[in-house]
Amino acid sequence: MSLFRRLSALPAVVLLALTALTGLTAAPAQAAPAAVAAAPNFKAPFPCGQRWTYGHHSAEVRRALDFVRADGGATAGTPVLASAAGTATRHYQASGAGNYIVIDHGGGWRTYYFHLAAYSVANGAYVGQGQQIGTTGSTGNSSGAHIHYEQLYNGTGQNIVINGVALSYPGSYHQAYLTSDNGCGGTGVPFTTWGSGVNVRADARLSAPVVATLGGPTAVRVLCQKQGDTVTAEGYTNNWWSKLRDQNGFVSNIYIDHPSAQLPGVPVC
Ligand SMILES: [Zn+2]
Repeated sequence: MSLFRRLSALPAVVLLALTALTGLTAAPAQAAPAAVAAAPNFKAPFPCGQRWTYGHHSAEVRRALDFVRADGGATAGTPVLASAAGTATRHYQASGAGNYIVIDHGGGWRTYYFHLAAYSVANGAYVGQGQQIGTTGSTGNSSGAHIHYEQLYNGTGQNIVINGVALSYPGSYHQAYLTSDNGCGGTGVPFTTWGSGVNVRADARLSAPVVATLGGPTAVRVLCQKQGDTVTAEGYTNNWWSKLRDQNGFVSNIYIDHPSAQLPGVPVC
């Protein structure tokens, strides 16, 4: 059930206030998609702070939306960002999608990014949310630079949801707009790590790929923390992990030089 359907039970004035707060256009009342597993918290497929407009045309399949910039910047060449973490694969379809990336987020969820001018990641790379995966272009069957974006669950296109809010499906551009908070990050809280050869992983799981290794004590900025796999090391046991801004990954809080299992002053991811 979409956020809009749940919100629609609220008084209209509350709904309007919530819509204004999100800065997004609420979806018109339409058939809710079939019940699906919880999706990742998808973010806009373009950089932090940029404002784009989007639309849907009759030839679109799989509930796609096309995005172009509406903030004065050039659409062509703008980075295309992963809207959630996952495994990215490269594809090419001369008469259709052109250069495109598919990200498998697990749990049956995939996102698609069509018409790229270029790829920015290797085929099969694990990418973090907000990581650049390509540059916006017009390859394949496309009349101009744009990002054609899809969210699929078990191979079926879903109505697109960004930050938990269902987008509308206008028939042309400049009716609906989306400002990205993808990759905005923030400054984080400063800490120092200890230990040597400490792995930073793509998620708060011991099975997640290693994205960086800290050679020795390192000054880091912690963006947020969350509970994940329980780690036992150096005489401690802890299931809290910190997300490091500059390494774009998670490290067990055991390796953050602070006596508390859960760090003070750091929000939960
Ligand atoms: Zn399209």
